[in-house]
Amino acid sequence: MTEVPTYGMLINGESRETGEWLEIRNPQDDSLAARVARGSTAEIDEAVTAAKRAFNSGVWSKRSPVERSRVMADIAEKMAERIEDLVHVEMIANGATVRQATGFHVGIAIQHFSYFAELAGTYEFETALPPQTYPTLGQNIIRREPIGVCGAISPWNFPLVLTLWKIGPAIAAGNSIVVKPDEKTPLSLLEFGRIAEECGLPPGVLNIVPGEGVDAGARLVSHPDVGKVAFTGSTEIGREIMRSASDTVKRVTLELGGKSPSIVLDDADLQLAVDGVLFGCMFYSGQICESGTRVLVPDSLYDEFVERLVRRAKTIKLGPTDDWETDLGPIISAKQHQRVLDLIARGEDEGAKIVLGGGVPEGDEFRCGFWVEPTILTEVTNDMKVAREEIFGPVLCVLRYQDEDEAVEIANDSIYGLAATIWSSDNARALELAEELQAGTVWINDHHQVNPAAPFGGYKQSGIGRELGANCLDEYTETKTIYLDL
Ligand code: NAD
Repeated sequence: MTEVPTYGMLINGESRETGEWLEIRNPQDDSLAARVARGSTAEIDEAVTAAKRAFNSGVWSKRSPVERSRVMADIAEKMAERIEDLVHVEMIANGATVRQATGFHVGIAIQHFSYFAELAGTYEFETALPPQTYPTLGQNIIRREPIGVCGAISPWNFPLVLTLWKIGPAIAAGNSIVVKPDEKTPLSLLEFGRIAEECGLPPGVLNIVPGEGVDAGARLVSHPDVGKVAFTGSTEIGREIMRSASDTVKRVTLELGGKSPSIVLDDADLQLAVDGVLFGCMFYSGQICESGTRVLVPDSLYDEFVERLVRRAKTIKLGPTDDWETDLGPIISAKQHQRVLDLIARGEDEGAKIVLGGGVPEGDEFRCGFWVEPTILTEVTNDMKVAREEIFGPVLCVLRYQDEDEAVEIANDSIYGLAATIWSSDNARALELAEELQAGTVWINDHHQVNPAAPFGGYKQSGIGRELGANCLDEYTETKTIYLDL
C-alpha cells in the first residue's frame, strides 16, 4: 500500500475511522492523494446524536453571541495561519491551481468566515416592537432562535467556501451541524474541523462525515432530528433532496446549477469584454455554478469578437497546478472529463463549430489526469444541448443576437437563473438591462465577484433561498413572537 495521508471523520470532537475508506485522487495525474474514513448511515446517525446532545447541553447554543463571535474569529485567524496546508489539500483533491486555491478556494473562505464571525456578534437575535394599543395593550418581542441540528451537503468544486457558507451562519446562530462533504474532496473541510476544535468549538457542534450521497447524504436529509438541510450541488439532486425533506417538513436552502449568460452590448469595451468573458467562463476550468458559459454577442460584432476571443484564449496556459504561471488545471474526475468531451461532441453534431480546443491537450504532462483544452464553440443556438445543460468544463458557447430584446429573451430562456453578466460602457444602460434578467446575481463589467455581505442564490431552478448577506442567519433560525400583556 502506498504511504498516503489518512484522515478520520469528525464526530463529537473525535477523529473516527470505520475500516472503510474513500480514495481521494489528484485530478492532475490520477494519483492517490489521501484516504479518508468513509461514513454511511450509521455514522450520520451517530453524528446527529452528538450534534443534538451538544445543542441541548447549551454549551454553544446558549453561549452569548459575542462569545460565539470570538471563537469564530479565532478560527478565521487560525485558518489564515494555516493557509499553506489548506491550499495544499485544495490543490491535491480538487486540481485547483496554486493561484486559484490561494486567492479563491482558501482566501475567500477565510474572508467569508470572518464575515460570519462578525455577524454572530451583530445579528439582531431579539427585537422589541413598540407597544401595541389595540385590541389590548401589549408588547411583542420577536426572537430569532437556533433551529437545533442543521445538515449541510456540499459539492466538490469549492469544498471549503461553499461548506463554510453553511457552517458559518449555522454556528453563528447557535446551531449544531452535521456536514456531508463531497466524497471526492473532503480534505480541506477535515483540516478546517481540526482548526475549529483547536480554537475551542465544543465537541459535537461541528461534525464532518465524508461519504457517498446515496447513503450518508440521503440519511442526513431524511433524519427526523435534523431541522434544516442546506445543499449545494446539481439541480437533479436538489429536486431529490426537496422531495425527501418534505417527509419531515425540513427547512431547505438549495444552491443549484446554472447556465449563466454574458451579454456583450454593442457599446462594450471589446478587449475588456473578451478578457472578462474568458475569465467568467474558463476560470477553474469552468467548474463553477455561476460560470458565464453562454456569451451573447450582437450580430454586427460577432466575427470580430470571436476572432479576439480565440486569439486571447490561445494564451491560456494549462500546466502543473503548483506552478504560479499556470492558468488552468484539470477537470475533477474521469467521469466529468468524459462528460465534458461528450457534450462538446454533441454540440458539434448539433451544428456548433469548434473554433478552439475541443479535446485533450497534447503533451506528456496531460497523458494522465483529466485535462480538457479551453474550448470555444460558435454558431451555437439556444436550443442546442450545449446551450441548455451545464457542461462544467472550460467550454464557451458563443451565441448571436440581433437586438437587446432578443438578447434578454435568449438570456432568460433557461431553467436556470443563477447569474448573468453585462458588458457595456454605459452604466445606466447596463443597470436598466440588469432589471430584465432573471438571475440572482448580475455582474456589470466583471464576473465571479462574491461579496459576503451580498446575498447569493438563484432564480428558477437554480435554487431556493439565499446564502451570504446580512440576513443569512434568518435561514438558520426560527422566529418566535412573544406577546406580553401590559
Ligand atoms: P451533485 O449534486 O452530484 O453532488 C453534490 C453533493 O450531493 C455531494 O456531496 C454528493 O455526495 C451529494 N449527493 C448526491 N446524491 C445525493 C442524494 N441522493 N442525497 C443527498 N446527497 C446527495 O453535484 P456535484 O456534481 O458535486 O456539483 C456540481 C453541481 O453543483 C453543479 O450542478 C453546480 O452548478 C452545482 N453548484 C452550485 C452552486 C451554487 O451556489 N448554486 C455552487 C457550486 C456548485
